Amino acid sequence: MNGLTLYPWQQTTWDALLAGTARMPHALLLTGEAGIGKRRFAERLAAWFLCEAPGKTSEPCGVCESCRWFAAGNHPDYRVLAPGDDADEEEEGTKAKRRFPTIGVDDVRELNDFVNLTSHRGGARVTVVYPAESLNLAAANALLKTLEEPPAGAQFILVAHHWRRLLPTIRSRCRIFPLPMPEHRAAAAWLAQHGVVDPELHLHHSGGAPLAALEDAGADWLGTRRALLEHLANPGALDVLAVAGELEKSKLDAALVIAWLQKWVYDLVSMGLAGVVRYYPDCKDDLTRLSVRAPQLLKYAERLLEAQRLAHHPLNLRLVYETLLNDYVAAFRKGR
Ligand SMILES: [Zn+2]
Repeated sequence: MNGLTLYPWQQTTWDALLAGTARMPHALLLTGEAGIGKRRFAERLAAWFLCEAPGKTSEPCGVCESCRWFAAGNHPDYRVLAPGDDADEEEEGTKAKRRFPTIGVDDVRELNDFVNLTSHRGGARVTVVYPAESLNLAAANALLKTLEEPPAGAQFILVAHHWRRLLPTIRSRCRIFPLPMPEHRAAAAWLAQHGVVDPELHLHHSGGAPLAALEDAGADWLGTRRALLEHLANPGALDVLAVAGELEKSKLDAALVIAWLQKWVYDLVSMGLAGVVRYYPDCKDDLTRLSVRAPQLLKYAERLLEAQRLAHHPLNLRLVYETLLNDYVAAFRKGR
């Protein structure tokens, strides 16, 4: 992917952003659900800022020297600030602390050197921060200084799945531009083009986000989720210690696993209160059967939200899973 093409559902949003932007703010914050293509949108925007076509329109031309540098992935005036890949450093064994990728203050200092340089090609210098919520506190403060007094020509595109987790001071320095959930039909058509057999189902699983749905259709964790949902469907027989152990062993991102739980509980509550299933239509029978307990799960849903907020911080995963599963089982025991 060279970052120059949009996903088919993004054109309208693109046009809306580019319309009437004789003066783009020096810092944009693109927000929206995970899995809708925010990163590609940001990359294309970067390409547009850098495009040197005479009489530039609202699309990067794709043929000028700058666009070709960009497509080749080595434009000298373009930087992506993203968390380092710590996966290789993760040690085996239960004692090893999981490391969660963050953007650190050294990364931002390095970036500031780039931002303060003169542009190689005499135009803008563009930085994409993805995702902005992985800036740790020191890094966010270092970036804030630059956002407050940006050198001429410096352009920032921050991308966030959860913009409320950003420092308010960072948010206030950016123009927030939300990217909407794609229109359902466009998303389904795109998935079908990519060989997904049941686009509707996977879109449901992913709350409508097409890239997440594509992953959902072919992920290697499908069996793990299937097993978890089957356990959740039988709370009376759920072996908390065993299931928590399996989940920990899977080494999956806690945010992903907790999201499965959140969707399951969302569906239970929604089924109980409104008779509607949003995420797991393939589990409708189980959800219907369990949904008489919906009112008891409202508190639990809040607890999951809190757990999701903490999922990116170092924590004892097995304990987190045990607690969450215990609370789930307890919610069904109550009031029997
Ligand atoms: Zn160009």
